[in-house]
Amino acid sequence: MSTPKAAYIHVPFCHARCPYCSFTVVANRLDWVDRYVEAVTRELATLGRPHVVNTIFIGGGTPTLLPREPMERLLEAIRRWLPLSDGGEWSIEANPQDIDQDLCLLLRDQGINRISLGGQSFNAAKLRTLGRDHTGDQLARSIDTAAGWFDEVSVDLIFGVPGEDMEVWKSDLSMVTSRSLSHVSTYGLTYEKGALFWGQLQRGQIVAAAEELELDMYLYAIETLTEHGLNHYEVSNFAKPGSECVHNQTYWQGDAWFGFGPGAAGFVGDTRSVNHRSTQKYLERMENGQSPIAESQTLDWSMRTRERFIFGMRQLKGVDWSALTRSGDPQAIAAIAQQLPKHFALGFMEWHAGHIRLTPQGLPISDSLWVDYW
Ligand code: SF4
Repeated sequence: MSTPKAAYIHVPFCHARCPYCSFTVVANRLDWVDRYVEAVTRELATLGRPHVVNTIFIGGGTPTLLPREPMERLLEAIRRWLPLSDGGEWSIEANPQDIDQDLCLLLRDQGINRISLGGQSFNAAKLRTLGRDHTGDQLARSIDTAAGWFDEVSVDLIFGVPGEDMEVWKSDLSMVTSRSLSHVSTYGLTYEKGALFWGQLQRGQIVAAAEELELDMYLYAIETLTEHGLNHYEVSNFAKPGSECVHNQTYWQGDAWFGFGPGAAGFVGDTRSVNHRSTQKYLERMENGQSPIAESQTLDWSMRTRERFIFGMRQLKGVDWSALTRSGDPQAIAAIAQQLPKHFALGFMEWHAGHIRLTPQGLPISDSLWVDYW
């Protein structure tokens, strides 16, 4: 069993819930911040002793919504229980309108070395549709400010938004390629149960982007971002060489990680667990000395092997087949091997340097392939 070398901390606060979002989020409850910091500090203390990790990722929610003083307390608690190894990566998700020189100074002084901006778009109409409360100018300024303090700055973009056309997407991409960014993530808009958009789509109040348009947008992003020196290293992620997100590779490689905060998942030993998604319940449980865990599942060898294949295939380099067959469950390996020929024959997968990887034809439809490998 490997001891986690990665940790995820979830901060659930947001100004308002965006209509496409189904994450663990509470809107307008900053009066809970002190309770939250106290609860996460308690949860961290359940580690019993400090654990050195190579990566920390503070996600949300909107972590940068935390006022400065509780933010400092949270970061200090994280540093106490999860000291970062030399050269380790410490990321925080940030909202563009929260980024200023003071915040960058605070984050950098505490040891954070990577900023991930939830930008989504620079276009006013698209931002309005997505319910975002920043402007394109604010996003551009936040990238420039963050780049003055951090070598590693990433931005998330969404494509395939109702009403968006190719010109809007091209303009979003040209805004990111003209700025100093080490990393870009691009996601096609999804309609998740629990999100406002999901109901609106069912009722015909919004119209999803046509599949062909979404495919063209994805292919255009790959072409443009790679032309600008950002290597396509995972289905949705692009980075300058050496700036790939190390933390996310934990998930893609099936490695262990700690999770803290409401709704946070963790994978320790062979157990996958998820904390209560309700922030209120999470706080109450921590305040009453109870476990925050809502569900846990022990993954047997077969499941771990299948997950390592499926998540590993999200990486453009693919999966090292001999390494997987050496360490994986033979029955799971045989089951995977049985499915492979049809995906090779359809041109969705190929061999490259001892790895099985997705082809350019397989990439856009990869999500539909994995059902055969569970
Ligand atoms: S999309 Fe981001 S900012 Fe919007 S509600 Fe979800 S977590 Fe908060």
